[in-house]
Amino acid sequence: MYIILKPKIFYHTKEIAKVITIIITGFLLILAMIFIKYKPVYEVTVAGEKLGYIKNLNEFQNLLQNEIINQEGANIANVSLTDEPTYELKLLTRTNDSNEAEIIEQLKTNHTMITYQYYEVALNNATTAYVDTLEEAEELVNEIKTEFEGDDLELNLQINEHLTENKAEIHTDSLEVAETTVQTAAQEIKEESEALAIINDVKLSVLPVTGRITSRYGESSSLRRSTHTGLDIACTTGTDIKVVANGTVTFSQYNGSYGKLVKVDHGNGVETWYGHCSKLYAEVGDEVEAGDVIAAVGSTGNSTGPHLHFEIRINGITVNPQNYVY
Ligand SMILES: [Zn+2]
Repeated sequence: MYIILKPKIFYHTKEIAKVITIIITGFLLILAMIFIKYKPVYEVTVAGEKLGYIKNLNEFQNLLQNEIINQEGANIANVSLTDEPTYELKLLTRTNDSNEAEIIEQLKTNHTMITYQYYEVALNNATTAYVDTLEEAEELVNEIKTEFEGDDLELNLQINEHLTENKAEIHTDSLEVAETTVQTAAQEIKEESEALAIINDVKLSVLPVTGRITSRYGESSSLRRSTHTGLDIACTTGTDIKVVANGTVTFSQYNGSYGKLVKVDHGNGVETWYGHCSKLYAEVGDEVEAGDVIAAVGSTGNSTGPHLHFEIRINGITVNPQNYVY
């Protein structure tokens, strides 16, 4: 039985092999034809819009990551896609090209959200400057801290990060400009802390003389026709009289009951007068700084002994100097 059947089986096997070969050849032929005419690609769709075709999904996703998500630039905090693309495997006629670069460009322009960052440097809770990077802000803060170290000032420097999707909102300065701005603000705080008083932004930082007050503002006296327009401070003749604030000397000569008198204009309507001097050092037109010696104490004019008659005038009207100094 076995011997008889063997050639038959062999014959059948040969026939089957032939058919299989034909089928495979046919299949390969069809496949070859398909591949001659078509190529497999991924169709990229985003938010319902077909953007085109890409050859290699992995390569494309790397491109997406590098060109869009990881893009760097001034003030860029992070970049994200507003719509995730979807990919569908398709066969495309070989005459059509894939368009990776164009798809990237479209995603970048229409489906990307960029968050920008910039930094605010605040001094004592007031915004003083804006810079682009955290490094700049930190450098700025450190420089100001170093500069005003030991001045024992209340300088509270803070860095605040700001994020925005609107690039036009960013108005930052160069580090140099920002530094100058913060420095000026800190300097003002320093001057204010050192000032005895501030009148109309004029900083009174020095007492003209130190001594015993012998007559207060507004007092009546048989020596005067009206109430006292200044403050009298007794000092020995020749004691230096210092100007209380920066300003310009507008008067320096003998003037009736005031005796030898110096007037200094500090701007913003603020003036100080120094009367009964023995010597006048300042001259009209002199630019003086707080602490400069402008005259010497004396007893010229309507005076009974050596003292300084000190007046503060705001817009031409005398005020009580003791509201500000002494
Ligand atoms: Zn007086």
